[in-house]
Amino acid sequence: TEAGPPPAGLIKSSAGIGALLAQGIGDTIRYPLTADPVEEARAGRALLEAMGLRERKNVDLIACPSCGRAEIDVVAVAADAMAAFADREIPLQVAIMGCVVNGPGEARDADLGIAAGYRRGHLFVKGRNAAVVAEDEMVDALVEWAELIHSEGAEAALARVDTEKAAREAERDRQRLLAEQGDDVNDTGTRIDLIRRHGA
Ligand code: SF4
Repeated sequence: TEAGPPPAGLIKSSAGIGALLAQGIGDTIRYPLTADPVEEARAGRALLEAMGLRERKNVDLIACPSCGRAEIDVVAVAADAMAAFADREIPLQVAIMGCVVNGPGEARDADLGIAAGYRRGHLFVKGRNAAVVAEDEMVDALVEWAELIHSEGAEAALARVDTEKAAREAERDRQRLLAEQGDDVNDTGTRIDLIRRHGA
């Protein structure tokens, strides 16, 4: 009951409360954060939603951690998207992915997502390519599509666009990036060698 201020307090509380909830223990929760009580309520709701114990109310924004392949500043775009969705009550999972090489595959289970490539955003719905937008319109496009899917459903939204053309465009940018960056843009082999040498 004295977890302290966020972010450490959030992590400690989530670990403790989450472990109990996972075992089916508890009827009421409270995050004992040293913060505005509104933050406590938000954290409690987010934990219940993340564990599938409460129906989602707002967007669940996910994003890749970014890496050498990233075509955009993922942190900044994710922050912009968080602000754009704010308290809009759209219970969808929305993904922001740094590159079209791996992003659509990594986030194929999201309701809606966008992956960057060649100064464009490749928008996908439930893993299916749906549209291509300018890089600086990525967040606006996500909000617009989220509202459309929420009101009409994913299939109806997809029926409005040429998914095959969008898929061709995404594959074209994917191949261009692969040709430019190669298969191992993060130089994984060298990193693994370094780790092995340090560990030896
Ligand atoms: S490969 Fe692409 S989607 Fe995956 S972390 Fe790197 S930038 Fe993000």
